[in-house]
Amino acid sequence: MGKRLGQHFLRNRGILQKIVEIAQLTHEDIVVEIGAGMGDLTELLLNNAREVIAIEIDPVLYKILRERFGLTRNLKIINKDALKVYYEELGQFKVVANIPYYITKPLIFRLIEAENLISMTLTIQKEVAERLVAKPSTKAYSALSIITQYLTEPEIKFYIPATYFSPPPDVSSAVIKLDRRQKPPVEVTDEKLFFRVIKLAFGKRRKMLSNSLISIIDESKEFLSNIGIDPMKRAEELSIDDFARISNELCKICKD
Ligand code: SAM
Repeated sequence: MGKRLGQHFLRNRGILQKIVEIAQLTHEDIVVEIGAGMGDLTELLLNNAREVIAIEIDPVLYKILRERFGLTRNLKIINKDALKVYYEELGQFKVVANIPYYITKPLIFRLIEAENLISMTLTIQKEVAERLVAKPSTKAYSALSIITQYLTEPEIKFYIPATYFSPPPDVSSAVIKLDRRQKPPVEVTDEKLFFRVIKLAFGKRRKMLSNSLISIIDESKEFLSNIGIDPMKRAEELSIDDFARISNELCKICKD
């Protein structure tokens, strides 16, 4: 089996049970599992949800899953790349998964885009979990932190040492729960522009904000000073409110 596909299996029943408890499932829930592997977590999910949709890219593991679960009524197994699934078509759903680490970032962005997502309980690389919950002026603070915290409430629940996986990965892991917010923590006029400004600012993390924004607005220094933000600051020093203010004020100018 390939290390290439992030195949590190978590077979400790106690830990898997703890993950399922954190997910707070009900028998009404549709649960999506990404990277079902050999199906140990899948089995626990089946006991706690109305329906489980297990996605597994590897045809060998897909066959193992089919053999293990046969025609289990409330399980759908999909042999597909999780980045290519249309989650919008599923109805309201929760994700519980020990995900392949090499697709963590695009997968999280892809999933939180789906408005029908209720929550995610994910086992991911420890450093990425810390980025998702990071606060301004820390090394871990990034575009992913702000966008995740704008759309969800992320909380690290516990850490899992590498030795619990088979074979053990090179990194430590963490279980993180992300609950979709009912209402964003800041008011944003144009979400697309808000995300664009954040990504642009962090694209040149070491640069002054006024330099990063020059591709959107020529007079970026004056613009930032006028709205009460120091143009000398760098992206990592700005809060989610600062980014909301910048994009909302930009939006006004664009519409003039
Ligand atoms: N759920 C199992 C467990 O906890 O033991 C396996 C977890 S393992 C970290 C990740 C799984 O994701 C592997 O089974 C791997 O084949 C699968 N996988 C890798 N890339 C994938 C992708 N793009 N889409 C869906 N599954 C993928």
